[in-house]
Amino acid sequence: MIRVMVTGAYGRMGREVLKTVWHAEDMDLVGAVDGRGEGVDIGPLIGIDEVGISIENNLEEAIKRMRPDAVVDFTGPQAVYSNTICCLEHKVRPIVGATGMDPGQINEIVKLSEQIRVGGLIAPNFAIGAILMMRFACEAVRFLPDVEIIELHHDQKVDAPSGTAIKTAEAIFEQRENEYSQGLPTEMETLEGARGGKFHGGIRIHSVRLPGLVAHQEVIFGGLGQTLTIRHDSITRESFMPGVLLAIRKTMNLERVVYGLDKLLFE
Ligand code: NAP
Repeated sequence: MIRVMVTGAYGRMGREVLKTVWHAEDMDLVGAVDGRGEGVDIGPLIGIDEVGISIENNLEEAIKRMRPDAVVDFTGPQAVYSNTICCLEHKVRPIVGATGMDPGQINEIVKLSEQIRVGGLIAPNFAIGAILMMRFACEAVRFLPDVEIIELHHDQKVDAPSGTAIKTAEAIFEQRENEYSQGLPTEMETLEGARGGKFHGGIRIHSVRLPGLVAHQEVIFGGLGQTLTIRHDSITRESFMPGVLLAIRKTMNLERVVYGLDKLLFE
């Protein structure tokens, strides 16, 4: 049995992970950590009777006491870096879903994990469809190098652009071999931000935040007299759970932290 702890457990994603791990036959849910909800039994949070596991608020103490094999982190941009370092320092595999870390922090985590030979995963998107969306976008950009990204999320999301949009832009940027249009040098924004944020290579990312949305992304390619749109929609948070389970299982055999669920799916 794989011993799993969840941090950010009181949040929207955290509760979904609690439910999924609780019902997984090869996993033991050994703890739940969050800044909110201290002392609350997790059973009612996931629609069942009390189970005797309650939310606690100190990750390090919880790790020392329960010795999990993996910690699944769905906290947020303020906590995720220090939580991940804490896991590694205690030789526990971090499975990181929370977004908002910068590339320097991700690199540091990967390097530290290599030094101490502890596996783990940082995945800005656990939905298999989103991984395929990124892969197809990498294929398309070889033929249609002019591209912009629109990501759409619920109105409670803290960071913008989304981690998925950044990962997509990084992947597209690496794959793009052909000349692309640089945009008009005379382009004028009469409303600041109207053209979105500019990533490497001039790839534009536009972030939409509205109630009713979950997590969605369009990658739009433009060519001579044509466009191609690759779109992925997470309609419910359950969409991320098969990826979370796969990540927990596969990282048991890793000796470093990898970035992107694609590394576990395709390599
Ligand atoms: P949420 O509902 O706000 O849940 C986050 C929870 O983490 C909150 O209860 C928050 O408490 C708690 N938290 C914050 N700092 C903490 C700390 N230091 N220690 C313990 N708990 C802490 O947010 P969400 O919608 O579930 O999303 C969580 C994260 O997952 C976001 O970064 C989001 O972008 C990401 N996400 C990733 C994927 C993916 O596939 N990788 C999918 C969806 C969402 P407070 O409110 O008190 O801070």
